[in-house]
Amino acid sequence: MALHLDAFGATHAGKIRKNNEDSLLVGEGRDHSLFAVADGIGGFEAGEVASSIAVDVLKVLAPSDSLEEAIGKANRRILESARSDEKLSGMGTTVVAARFRGAGGSSSDEPLAEVSHVGDSRAYLLRGGEMKPVTEDHSLVAELVRSGDLTRAEASEHPQRNLITRALGAEEEVAVDTAVLPVEVGDRLLLCSDGLSDMVPEAKIGEILSSANDPEWGARALVSAALDGGGADNITVVVIDVREEPAEEPPAPTRNDTQELRAAPLVEDNAVPMPETRGRAPARDGATGHGLRGKKRGRARKRRSGAARALAALVRWTAALVVLAALATPFYLWANSQYYLGFDGGVVVIYRGLPPEYTLGFPLYEEHQRTDLRESQVDELYRGQIVEHELKSLEEAERVVRDLRAEEDPPERP
Ligand code: MG
Repeated sequence: MALHLDAFGATHAGKIRKNNEDSLLVGEGRDHSLFAVADGIGGFEAGEVASSIAVDVLKVLAPSDSLEEAIGKANRRILESARSDEKLSGMGTTVVAARFRGAGGSSSDEPLAEVSHVGDSRAYLLRGGEMKPVTEDHSLVAELVRSGDLTRAEASEHPQRNLITRALGAEEEVAVDTAVLPVEVGDRLLLCSDGLSDMVPEAKIGEILSSANDPEWGARALVSAALDGGGADNITVVVIDVREEPAEEPPAPTRNDTQELRAAPLVEDNAVPMPETRGRAPARDGATGHGLRGKKRGRARKRRSGAARALAALVRWTAALVVLAALATPFYLWANSQYYLGFDGGVVVIYRGLPPEYTLGFPLYEEHQRTDLRESQVDELYRGQIVEHELKSLEEAERVVRDLRAEEDPPERP
């Protein structure tokens, strides 16, 4: 049986970040059945460089060559670039890639999707109205979910959920996880960066994905939902539908490839037609969105009882152990891309790295910027995140400082 793949990709910088460090591949490479999302890490546009190297390497992958090896090659190429240019040092990227196999008419194999990933960009499979995760994040909180110390719902709200334990660009060798799934007509595969999965609850992603008429509608609606959910990070989604080859012959069949693909043009930043998408699904979004959020809070409240403190301690110790492991290897990647605010000498300071309480006192942080904002003048509203050393991107940390400045010096009125 020949399959027909219908795909659409959309990406958006989000509401807070200036740059879009995500990259995507929507079947426009040498292998038309290959799709990918990469989420770059690293300041000063280095993340953008890393994620586009990953996609560039995948773009030239021949259909007969190994996907895992290509990801390994991308890893080495990112390391090489980072070493040759100081501005790019510490850059890295996640990647999730899906390739469809055995769907061509020449093959008698069952059609398969091969899904490989590194980091916390995800793949989901929607079949029969039900969405299931295909990938398991390589992240600190995902480890805690696997060991039973956190629920999936708790993990999705955890302040350290962005700490990834694997990435391209971190070490010479990278372990790639690959899932091979038999695919059927009617299946819908979603690839996404954490800018979607952090902003939109899984149940809601599934609901949007299952109600979308086609990949384009689905991809645009998911981006809109992530923006509505805060848009705190770059958002990238690729939606791929597995369809039956249309009954009539395609007008211009290619020589030896019975697969057909409509890789739709990428949606540029700001080109996502928000009003249109909103206008098309206002009632459903409004109604069920609130219901889901309410349910989630209830569940979280029930669990956050006496065990909360012990859990917090456990998370801290696990974080410390992960960081110790990181110190034993050249894996400073995530620490280098993390920032937090703290008080020092009575003023607010932006630090780069991980707070000492997460690293058993190891100096995995440095002063990035000492402000003139006095501790005594910091509004209660902001105090918690500063005292608790909440991890942020540089943009987020700078934004808090700007907000604090605005509070401190209200514009003079005539
Ligand atoms: Mg991201």
